[in-house]
Amino acid sequence: MKKLLLIFLCSILTFYATAQNLTRVIVLSTGGTIAGQQPNSDKAGYVPGKIPIEELLKDIPSITQKAIVQGEQIASIGSNNMTVDIWIKLARRINEIFAKNEADGIVITHGTDTLEETAYFLNLTVQSDKPVVLTGAMRPATAISSDGSKNLYDAIIVASDTSSKGKGVLLYFNDNIYDAKNVVKTSMTNVNAFSSPNTGPLGQVYDSKVFYNMQTLNRHGGPAAFDVSKIDSLPRVEIVYFYADASNVAINAFIDNKVAGIIIAGTGGGSFNKSILESVKNAVKKDIKVVRSSRVVSGRVSINIVGEIDDSKLGTIVSDNLNPQKARILLMLALTTTSDKNKIQEMFFEY
Ligand code: ASP
Repeated sequence: MKKLLLIFLCSILTFYATAQNLTRVIVLSTGGTIAGQQPNSDKAGYVPGKIPIEELLKDIPSITQKAIVQGEQIASIGSNNMTVDIWIKLARRINEIFAKNEADGIVITHGTDTLEETAYFLNLTVQSDKPVVLTGAMRPATAISSDGSKNLYDAIIVASDTSSKGKGVLLYFNDNIYDAKNVVKTSMTNVNAFSSPNTGPLGQVYDSKVFYNMQTLNRHGGPAAFDVSKIDSLPRVEIVYFYADASNVAINAFIDNKVAGIIIAGTGGGSFNKSILESVKNAVKKDIKVVRSSRVVSGRVSINIVGEIDDSKLGTIVSDNLNPQKARILLMLALTTTSDKNKIQEMFFEY
């Protein structure tokens, strides 16, 4: 009897000691397909954001041997309904968690459609250099061979690994770890839905171990570029998509609506036609900041000093290698600190 009691006490102590060495990870859930539920597990149709985070964590019971994990529901939406309000709420909660030392790492579960945008917003607004890892799924939690549990498990492994510190906000998907600036959703349907066309992934997870090959040198957290602790909204910036023979109806509507900035998703290296060119001149005259980006997924838009589109004469900013949706985020945040075009241009090269 005494022997049994001793064994019992020893195992409790071992468990306690092990638990003490485990890192603490908080999973902030926003919804998405990873929390999606379907009427039929063999059909594509589903409702995103239905399953609470506590339920999703029950599907990966062995994670308790790797980290002390706690779930927290921030929103229950499809990420097509993501808003600036939720971004600010998320950034503030993350900054609070780290300031109060409530966790060593954070995972965010999120729909894949705007995952890269939330990742980039947080990359610019999270103050700590502790790991923040976003993930999602292409198949709903109820689907045959759903990818959500594996992505969630591995994202927690990444967030609890000390080597993930100081690498900026990360996105984990289908074995790969990506940096927030370069990652893009490149498939509408495949489970390997993300890639970084300009740079490749930073690393991988295999067998519950994290392997890094690269590190981003772009500016990110600890301290972050922008402070959202006292900001409740952002200036309005819209995106104009360009294509052959595009009219200027959309860009003129944005100008008439007095937006603070316009991103042009141009062709090739950020080009557009004469009709848009006239509207761009008009926008700049009205002190609306215009950024030339591109609808092409890799490469960079560089400053033009010759030809029809001459940035120094036009007063336009170039996005460098930021895609239009991320250029919009940077311009919105930049406009909270300055309206100086040259300073904003510098930010596009730095962040
Ligand atoms: N509609 C979903 C969303 O972005 C797609 C996904 O999560 O894969 O929320």
